[in-house]
Order: sequence, then structure tokens, then C-alpha cells
Amino acid sequence: MNREFYGNFTLGILGGGQLGRMLIQEAINLNIDSKVLDPDSNAPCKHLCNEFVNGSLNDFNAVVEFAKNVDVLTIEIEHVSVEALKKIQTTGVKVYPQPGVLEIIQDKGLQKEFYTKHNIPTASYTLINGSSEVNAHFKAGGIIQKLRKGGYDGKGVVLLKDDKDLNKAFDAPSVIEEKVDIEKEISVIVARNEAGEVKAFPIVELGYNSEANLVEYLISPAGVSKDFQQQAESIAKNVANSLGIVGILAVEMFITKSGKILVNEVAPRPHNSGHQSIEGNVTSQYEQHLRAILGLPLGSTEITLPSVMVNLLGEKGHEGEVVYEGLKECLAIDGVKVHLYGKKSTKPFRKMGHVTIIDKDIKSAMVKAEKVKNTLKVKSK
Ligand code: ADP
Repeated sequence: MNREFYGNFTLGILGGGQLGRMLIQEAINLNIDSKVLDPDSNAPCKHLCNEFVNGSLNDFNAVVEFAKNVDVLTIEIEHVSVEALKKIQTTGVKVYPQPGVLEIIQDKGLQKEFYTKHNIPTASYTLINGSSEVNAHFKAGGIIQKLRKGGYDGKGVVLLKDDKDLNKAFDAPSVIEEKVDIEKEISVIVARNEAGEVKAFPIVELGYNSEANLVEYLISPAGVSKDFQQQAESIAKNVANSLGIVGILAVEMFITKSGKILVNEVAPRPHNSGHQSIEGNVTSQYEQHLRAILGLPLGSTEITLPSVMVNLLGEKGHEGEVVYEGLKECLAIDGVKVHLYGKKSTKPFRKMGHVTIIDKDIKSAMVKAEKVKNTLKVKSK
């Protein structure tokens, strides 16, 4: 495959959600055609891509068939058939991130073992086969149980305070982790191309919705010292190089109360913690991913303006056809950029869109973000 990427070039994307949608928006700028596979016949990418195929991402035959006429295959969700990706690679289609990388990342147990093997700092852990083994691992302050496979957005993660919580434990192969005293949650997005060039985006700070256990807002740049910035960046680059990934990698980390940095988990694709890069950085994470997987030089990751990103989550108590309340009021605020993902129906905590607020002054961006959070509501009709 030595064809140029522009003109008659098709990027295959497994998954047709919001991440794919924003990736396609950048692909259009480079005149790259896109073909998308998603199990939802109304997926957010459906009307943006050149070709949409409705099918399961875990169906070996469906994925192999889908990739027959694509030039490069990528993902926007990691829960896909790795066996199919391996088969596709043998047909000469480039698959980035590589199937071997996905295999490790799909399994939180293998991920943890990978960190240990490569001296990447992470919370201490044990691997177990099911809930009957949990009791033996309780510690004062509680433990965190994570399903090895299939979890996302906090689903598949549970805090077990003591043996009274045993009924909440998952009965499946899991990772048991020490409960970390978290000072801040941060993320560094790093990209690596075929030539081995690696670039990191400046650290962002994540704010979690404790009820839904998913990212509610992020701040770029993170309010951390230069020393932490350098350490976090170097850890993130080390993870990308150790994996040998081609593409983008989001490295989620904890800064502990005692001042250590620990890697929590990684995602081998554009990530919620990089949305602000569309307006706030010279190169967005989506453009960077395309550059990385197409053998192009990586772009500058420099921040152009400080930003705060707010996820638009479905309101509690609302399920069904979506309406957005307060949109006009928010759009009247300077520096507010709205992204709606085109999902027809909402449900509590569903990611329906996001808003990035850019401002020369990060404090002013935070005030505006608070206003957006309190004004813009995702409800059902
Ligand atoms: P997911 O893959 O579903 O996003 P994570 O592993 O990122 O799951 O966990 C979700 C959240 O749970 C984290 O962002 C963090 O707030 C909390 N968490 C995860 N692991 C730990 C830990 N070892 N100690 C304390 N909190 C944790």
C-alpha cells in the first residue's frame, strides 16, 4: 500500500460513535473517504461517512468482510474482534492500532502485567477469577475491583469498602487494586507514528461525576507543576514506546496525595480527555491520530488557548427523544463551542455532546464552564 492518502483512499473505522464522528470531521479536511461499521443503525457517524455498514464489531466474519476494500483500518472503540484484525493484517491492509496492542489493552489484567513488566508505575494489584476470591484481599480503606474485560465509562469498576460490600462484587475474572488516595486525575494523550516519532499533548486535569463515575469536565492545561508535567509526559511516552503503538494513546493517570504518579489505564484511540484539543491546541487529537496512522509527520501539540471541556450528559429522570435546554444562552457566551453528537435519544448519564470553552484566562473559562453546566440541560421531550 504505497498510495497517497488523499483521493480514492478509504479509512475504515470500527465503531460509529462520537469519536468516529469527530475523526471523520478531520478526515474530510484531508480528503480521506471513510467507511464505518457499527451495530447501531442510527450511529452518530451514519450520515457523515461515505459508506456505513450495520454489523457487530465482535463478529469475525462481519469485520473481515467490512475491511475488504479499505486502505487503512482503525478503531474508535477497543471492544472489537482482535482475531478479525489479525486476519485482516495478513491481507495487506494496515491495521492501526495493531491487534497485539489491542489484545493487551482489552484485558485490564494483561494491561497491569504489562505495566509491571515495563516498570511503569501503577497501583498495586492482584488478579482473581471470581467473587469467591475477593474476601482474601480486603484492606483497610477498601479495594477496587475491575472486570478484566468489557468495562467502560466506570461500568465494570466497583469500590468494595469492607466485607459488607461483598454482594456488590463481580463474579468474573477481575483485577483487585489498592484504593489510591487520589489528589488529581490527569491524562496525557500521546501519538506515535510508523517512523517511531512520538509527541505528547500537554497534561489535562479531569473532573469526575462521582455518581456516574465518568468524566464530567476537563481543564487544559492542568494546574500542576512543571515537574509533574515532565514526569507525566515521560511516563506516557514510555507506555507508547513500550507498546510500540501506531496511533494515538490516551494515558489516564492519578497524582496521589503523597505526590506519586500512577498509570490507571490507557485507551488506544481518540479519547474524551482530548476533546478540547479541537479548539484549544494547534493540532487536534483526531488530526494527530490520522497523521500517526497514515505515516505522516505528527503535528504541534501546543496549546493555543486555555480551555475547559464539559461533557453533556443525559439528565437523570429523562429517557427518550432528546431536547437541549439552554443552548442559545450558552452560545451567547464568548468562547463557547458546542458539539452535539447527533444521538436521537437520551438516557441518564449518556454522553450526548460536549462544550469546549476557550478563554485567554483559565479562571474565566472555569466560570463560563460552570454557567454552561448549570444552564445547558439534556432532557427528553
Ligand atoms: P473505566 O475503564 O470504566 O473508565 P477506570 O479504571 O478508569 O474505569 O476507573 C474509573 C474511575 O474509578 C477512575 O477514574 C477513578 O476515579 C476510580 N478508580 C479507578 N481505580 C482506582 C483506584 N485504584 N483507586 C481509587 N480510585 C480508582
